[in-house]
Amino acid sequence: MDLDNGADVLMHDGDILASTENYTQVTETSLGSAVKSDYDGLTARASGKALLSATPTLKGAGLRREADLRESQLDPRLEIPRPAKFKHLPYATAQTGLVYDVRMRFHVEAIPSEVDVHPEDPRRIHAIYEAFVHAGLAWQAGAEGSPNYYMGRIDARKVTKDEVCLVHTERHWDWIQTLSSKTAEQLVGELQHPTEYSQMDSVYLSPNTPYCAALSAGGAIEACRAIMLGKVKNVFAVIRPPGHHAEREDVKGFCFYDNVSIATKACQQEFGERCRKVLILDWDVHHGNGIQQANYDDPNVLYISLHVHSDGNFYPENSYRDRRPPYGDLLHCGEGAGLGYNVNIPWRRHGMGDADYIYAFQQIVMPIATDFRPDLVVIAAGFDAAEGDMLGGCHVTPAGYAHMTHMLMSLANGRVAVCLEGGYNLESIARSACAVGKTLMGEPPDRLEDLKPTKYGVDDVKRVVRQQSKFWSCLYPKDLSARLARPLQGERMHDVVRKWQAKTLWDEHEMSPLFVHREKLSKSFENQVLAT
Ligand SMILES: [Zn+2]
Repeated sequence: MDLDNGADVLMHDGDILASTENYTQVTETSLGSAVKSDYDGLTARASGKALLSATPTLKGAGLRREADLRESQLDPRLEIPRPAKFKHLPYATAQTGLVYDVRMRFHVEAIPSEVDVHPEDPRRIHAIYEAFVHAGLAWQAGAEGSPNYYMGRIDARKVTKDEVCLVHTERHWDWIQTLSSKTAEQLVGELQHPTEYSQMDSVYLSPNTPYCAALSAGGAIEACRAIMLGKVKNVFAVIRPPGHHAEREDVKGFCFYDNVSIATKACQQEFGERCRKVLILDWDVHHGNGIQQANYDDPNVLYISLHVHSDGNFYPENSYRDRRPPYGDLLHCGEGAGLGYNVNIPWRRHGMGDADYIYAFQQIVMPIATDFRPDLVVIAAGFDAAEGDMLGGCHVTPAGYAHMTHMLMSLANGRVAVCLEGGYNLESIARSACAVGKTLMGEPPDRLEDLKPTKYGVDDVKRVVRQQSKFWSCLYPKDLSARLARPLQGERMHDVVRKWQAKTLWDEHEMSPLFVHREKLSKSFENQVLAT
């Protein structure tokens, strides 16, 4: 991490401490004089003025305080401070990274239709980038101020075959490469597995597809690498085509390479123990079937997805290849060593809002993620659950996304990589992405309006808690049933009554218990045979 950059915006320990202490002293002095002035018969306005003029400012902000410190022996400036150990806070002053490459817009429909624009529109990434520039998050020629105030640009690059094959098959890679040499007419009828199905699952192709998909996956890798190398504190990768539906050997749902899983596995390989455990949080409104498949048996990748499931009637309903039943349900929890490291939070209906998502975060995501202790957090950030997205039909606001980001930033020492997935309303994705970008840069999230989850949201979350508490002790309300099943520590009511009866008889009639000669005696008969 370049600690030397940004010295012009930094305040050192000594400065802050001295100013703060002076502030306290001066305020006390001013208050004292104000009280005295009142006694002297001066107006309250005058004393207010005295207070204002004595209000100090932090050093460097332009104003110098002119206060007469009578008790100069208490002036902290006269004390020799210990030398600063660090120049500045390494995280707070580091930049947020931005991956954006205009060439990712070249993946377009081979024969575009004027009337029916495909939702996975090349303008999506531009809308986000433009919003970043307008909001003052991304630098553009002519922008004011130090470059440190902006996101730091990270170059995207093409993914390599070896990297793709960490997740996909060689056949998958090879087929995608063939697309670049085909004509538009050929691409319209093209099938990845022509013998197995007669239609592609929600994918359009262009001769530029291999190039753009490679940049998208490579961009995700470079985003995560930049964090792990300490070049940036966190990063937003504005990439397309998206990736979370792409399976081992299937392009699917606008996706070609599973960008997030490839980046995760590439970083695990490169950084070893420093990046062993990765949390992938997928808030796209669709289930990330590709990410789930790629990491299903891996205990070092925790996949948590919040998505509309509608009991299996929302995309991705089933797999084209083997007609599997929907697999975004809450019963899919991983397998083998990865059992318990796949957490699906399926909404049974559309219409979920901020309060439902925040509730799910508080009840499931954050407890599990904190327990997991990831080294890196990757957000598969689709913005199709955003207010205004026709495909998702949910109501998450920009502030909602900001709060989710903010919570995730408390994990993994703040190493958070946000990788764009879906989101099809240009305005909604731009506003939502801006809110996330600002949060990454350090702005506190906006206030949330309504924090009462819907009863459907509460119900769905409870079902997941019940399921996942098998694997995560932090979710243990179900432990209550286990405690009830253990022998009770209390006394039975009729034993208490009998004991009282016996004691009264002893006391009133001076009776004493008889020894009952039996091998086993029920507790209920203990001290119950009495005689005078
Ligand atoms: Zn989606």
